[in-house]
Amino acid sequence: MSEENKLDFIREIVSDDLKSGKIKKVITRFPPEPNGYLHIGHAKAICIDFGIAEEFGGECHLRMDDTNPAKEETEYAENIMNDVKWLGFDYGEKLFHASDYFDLMYECAVKLIKKGKAYVCDLSQEEWEECRGDSTRPGKNPPGRLRSVEENLALFERMKNGDFADGEMVLRAAIDMTSPNIHMRDPVLYRIRHAEHFRHGNKWCIYPIYDFAHPLEDAAEGVTHSICTLEFEIHRPLYDWVLENLDWPNPPRQYEFSRLNLSYTVMSKRKLLQLVKEHYVSGWDDPRMPTLSGMRRRGIPAAAIRNFCRSLGVTKVNSNTDVSIFEEFIRRELNAVCPRFLAVLNPLKVTIVNYPEDQTEFLDGVNNPEDPSAGTRKIPFSRTIYIEKTDFMENPPKGYFRLSPGKEVRLRYAYFITCVEVVKDESGEVVELKCTYDPATRGGDSPDGRKVKGTIHYVDAATAVKFECRLYDRLFSVENPGMNDVDFLTELNPDSLKVIDGYGEAALAQLPERTAIQFERTGYFISDPDSKPDKMVFNRICTLKDSWSKLNKK
Ligand code: ATP
Ligand code: MG
Repeated sequence: MSEENKLDFIREIVSDDLKSGKIKKVITRFPPEPNGYLHIGHAKAICIDFGIAEEFGGECHLRMDDTNPAKEETEYAENIMNDVKWLGFDYGEKLFHASDYFDLMYECAVKLIKKGKAYVCDLSQEEWEECRGDSTRPGKNPPGRLRSVEENLALFERMKNGDFADGEMVLRAAIDMTSPNIHMRDPVLYRIRHAEHFRHGNKWCIYPIYDFAHPLEDAAEGVTHSICTLEFEIHRPLYDWVLENLDWPNPPRQYEFSRLNLSYTVMSKRKLLQLVKEHYVSGWDDPRMPTLSGMRRRGIPAAAIRNFCRSLGVTKVNSNTDVSIFEEFIRRELNAVCPRFLAVLNPLKVTIVNYPEDQTEFLDGVNNPEDPSAGTRKIPFSRTIYIEKTDFMENPPKGYFRLSPGKEVRLRYAYFITCVEVVKDESGEVVELKCTYDPATRGGDSPDGRKVKGTIHYVDAATAVKFECRLYDRLFSVENPGMNDVDFLTELNPDSLKVIDGYGEAALAQLPERTAIQFERTGYFISDPDSKPDKMVFNRICTLKDSWSKLNKK
């Protein structure tokens, strides 16, 4: 059960309901609207819905909430199914579509009309707003309330048959025009929409509203606990009203938790769609997107997402979660499993002047210090190598332990080298270093107890493979994009993607596709689907350390 052995409030309720015999089996559902891709916020909901079902021996349904006719939905629905499975959850045969209950919903609406609990309303939007009142003013009963059951039945049927234009009529629940909860002031149950539905074509031209449809979908599937985010709390009385007035036996109950908000990103589908449509990113699966498909492409392990979601708990407190917490979960997951490689992203040529020309030797590199069973591999070494530009300073400050003129450093797994000459071009830029090596330090060991404080990495120039390296960073440069009416597009991080050439150990070419790896001292990387044998492409999943928190402290 939960890591802390303490149940959150929803698990507590489920556990009690099972113990008391109120339910025999817990049934939950995850109801995405197929009008966009799933993001990390949805992952929190998925982990709760599927997680609870799994832990208590129940089942969780994946239900496409497709009551709103729109285009392009097939692509979205397919990606949603794929993402849920990738995240590690199995809905088995339990894939449902809200639109498959359209007949049931229609029958239920008719039943409510017959009970005098629903009526057809033909007020214009303006007239309705006047009639409805607001938070300071109670509403008045709309004239439609006075219509007879027969009249309402006939009008509703004509609505269904397409006799009216969009917006001309709606079906309303007759509840309470003076309720302090505005959602209970005769809410709309059905509206007219002459639009083609991606699964049902033109069969319907009236479509149910979420607040009417959702409790019926839940009830039809035998859902016991309908878990959703806090903004639905105020809709709960209506959820209960619908099932109560239809005399539904053992109705499902709705429970709400606070949604996930992450810093340095946006989660609204409208904004994500805008980023895609206006080409601020390369697509829904752009590795900078907070979508599950973007994260998968970026190389983030599903387990990191699940563990992160788990750590958030389930509460009713709205809060903003710092993305660096998520990044720590990613590092923790990758550190344990990733094979290590040496790669240089910003090359500076180094010639080892006392190393024999035309000689290449192979040194043992440890594949994963976290996992001794991962063994070792052979790393080539010869007279010309590349090191990172940032590992050399001509005039180093005190405490700089990497390479500088006259100073000695350890090359990871190889030798101690000493810088004996700095070669510059006309502009004064350092283009090459000449170094000597000490053959007695093979493997990076000091023969005489001589201390070198710095260890840097390198690649052998002759055998190195060149690759395209995509350095991803946070998509936005501010913590809460779009706050205080700022256009969120003006807050995009201009450095969220840098494309450079990298040079890595030849062994990289043998790596199976899509293996997450660590470039020592640099970060975690994975080959992108764009990668080809003759042109490898690596995505940076994340850096080794949190560089942003240091920046913020400065
Ligand atoms: P929209 O932005 O269009 O309102 P949505 O984000 O609510 O859409 P849905 O497809 O309706 O997207 O969401 C499916 C489920 O995921 C809902 O039950 C919703 O409560 C949950 N969900 C959506 N966003 C988050 C979030 N940030 N944190 C937790 N749960 C979320
Ligand atoms: Mg929604």
